[in-house]
This record gives sequence, C-alpha cells and structure tokens, in this order.
Amino acid sequence: MTESVEHRRLIVAGTGAAGLTAAIYAARSNNDPLVLEGDEPGGQLTLTSEVENFPGFPEGLSGPDLINNMKEQAERFGAELEHGIVADIDDSERPFRVELSNGDVYTCDAFIAASGASARTLGVPGEDELMGYGVSTCATCDGAFFRGEDMLVVGGGDAAMEEAHFLTKFADTVYIAHRREEFRAEDYWIDRVQQKVDEGEIEIMRNTELLEMHGSPEDGVDHVTLARNDEGHPSEKLDDDGTETFDFDVGAVFIAIGHTPNTDYLEATGVELDDTGYIQTHGGTGGDQTATDVDGIFGAGDVVDYHYQQAVTAAGMGCKAAIDADEYLESQAEAAAEAESEATVEADD
Ligand code: NAP
Repeated sequence: MTESVEHRRLIVAGTGAAGLTAAIYAARSNNDPLVLEGDEPGGQLTLTSEVENFPGFPEGLSGPDLINNMKEQAERFGAELEHGIVADIDDSERPFRVELSNGDVYTCDAFIAASGASARTLGVPGEDELMGYGVSTCATCDGAFFRGEDMLVVGGGDAAMEEAHFLTKFADTVYIAHRREEFRAEDYWIDRVQQKVDEGEIEIMRNTELLEMHGSPEDGVDHVTLARNDEGHPSEKLDDDGTETFDFDVGAVFIAIGHTPNTDYLEATGVELDDTGYIQTHGGTGGDQTATDVDGIFGAGDVVDYHYQQAVTAAGMGCKAAIDADEYLESQAEAAAEAESEATVEADD
C-alpha cells in the first residue's frame, strides 16, 4: 500500500499565542497554513486564569478566551486547525517531510515551530505516582478539586505567585516553598502575595525544598517531606548541620518551577538547539529574525524564548515568523519561476 502524503505550503506546529498569531498572518498572506494542535491545545495561556497585561483588553480576559479569540480569527482567514503531534521532520529533502505521532505524513515548503514549552517537574519520589492525584502543574485546572485542603506551591517565579494567589480561593491555607531567600517573581506578584500573607491566607517557606511526596492514587497526597537551610538550596546540603528535614501535612501540591521547550522532533534536523533544547533563531535586526539554521524552518514563542515568555512577545514572534516564512516562500517561488523560464529558453534554442 502506498503511503498517503498531503502537501501543504506552510505547517505551523502549535496553537499557543505564537502559533495562532503566525496562523492569522500566514492565512492573510494566502499561505494556506495547516496549524497542528498538540496535547496542550492553546499552550500555557489556557492554564492562566486572568490575563491583565495583553494590550487592548483594559478589563483583562481569561487565557482560554484570549486563545479562543485568536483561533476564531485565524480560522476566519482560512487557517486550518487539526490535532497532531509532530514526531519527526526530515529536512534532508524539499519539500520537508513531517511525520505525526499518529503516523500521518505531510510535506510542506515551510514550517513554523511554535510548539511551546511544557511544565517542568521536580523528579522527587512520589511525584510520578501522585501526578493527577493531588499533584499538579496547573492550579487553574485542578485547584477546585482540593477545596478546603492545605495546599503547597513549589517555586519562586511569577507562575508560583500567580498560582498561590489563585489557590487562596479554594485552600484552607496556601504554602509557598521556594528554594532560596529571594523570589524571582516581579514586584507586582510579590505584592499581591504579600497582601494574602498579611490576610493570613498564604504562608511563605523560604530556603525550603520538597524532597518527597507521600500518599496514594486512591487517597491523594497525605503529606510531603521538606528540607530547610537558611543558606538556600537545602536539597544540596542534606548532610549539613544547618539543614532541617521535616514532614508537612498538605492535601495537594502544585509545581510551578518553569518549563522545558518541546523540540524533540527537531533534534535530528539541522536546526540548532541550545543545551536545554531552545531553538536558536538568527535574531538581530532586519528580516529573518525567526529563521533557523535550516532554510524554510522558523521558530517562534516559548520554544525560542526562555527569557520574556509573555503572551504578547510570543504573539509578536509568531507574527515575525509568518512574515519571514512568507518572504521565504515568495523567494522560492521566484527562483522556481526563473529556473523554469531559463529551461524554456534553453529548450527553444
Ligand atoms: P521561572 O521564572 O523560571 O521561575 C521558576 C521558579 O522555580 C524559580 O523561582 C526557580 O528557583 C524555581 N525552580 C526551578 N527549578 C526548581 C527545582 N528543581 N526545585 C525548586 N525550585 C525550582 O518560571 P515561571 O514562574 O514559570 O515563569 C516563566 C515566565 O512566564 C516568566 O517570564 C514569567 O514572567 C512569565 N509568567 C508571567 C505571569 C504573569 O505575569 N501573569 C504568570 C506566569 C508566568 P530560582 O529562583 O532559585 O531559580
């Protein structure tokens, strides 16, 4: 049986702010994008309860609403959205060959990687077993299941602060365990959390790390083992006199310690990734900022950006990627037309 392969001018992997913005621009440039929606449709924004810093929405809106608006807008201009996880890209031939995890195969002339980043986990005993049974990486998704419980949030960035603040709606008390003294989060979130601390709804445990989670899938999380050392990073100093290890009763644990880029499918290509898997794009000023080391493959959003990681910066990069891809596709079409006319002239001679 011959393999069925569909050809597309442009494939966009990812339906977060970057992928959907790329889809809007690409569809409006008649590049007929196929947009592949992975296992985390809508990306990180769909896990965010309120988005108050996306320009144009003075009252704020929910992450899922923002994503749904973008999807509707992309579809209005003709983008086609489909569930699909890219397993492999063959960049040794043109068009590119794109294989999905369900076995479907596409070819495409240009590809925008906007596949985002997934939540990191701690890798401590009990975590895998209890994930989904009291351990979660998404307060917005799971917080309401643990109403009335004491809850622990791990992390010291904006995500940890936002999740802890959100969880006060449901929790008896929210505890934040952060591995060092200073928070990484911006002042806005630190101030909001401090307000909840003053109101007795949040308690902060600095210089504290989670070593183990105890419980069962049937009964959920029973308690955790924590370590504290005033110098920070206690898990690296378990034998120090200054390290105290203790059990702590909580009914749910929310892990908010950052993300890992979804770029496994690019490892065998010529696209350069850094040590942690982020795509290296050309950057700089002028055109082609989202170009990778493979002509015709572009990168946008959290899969490239480990620093800004904002919805608006991801959307901006998605826009740039669609424009860069359009320019690339145009130049390919011009080169093909030129080659064809030269061939015709030669044949006539
Ligand atoms: P982040 O800023 O990278 O913070 C991760 C936090 O987890 C850090 O405090 C880090 O500790 C801690 N951490 C990392 N690995 C750990 C481990 N193995 N054990 C214990 N703690 C660990 O990640 P994020 O909070 O997910 O935020 C990512 C980006 O999204 C940021 O740019 C942020 O501004 C943005 N964001 C914005 C909002 C908002 O404004 N509404 C909400 C969420 C996220 P150290 O500080 O010691 O490194």
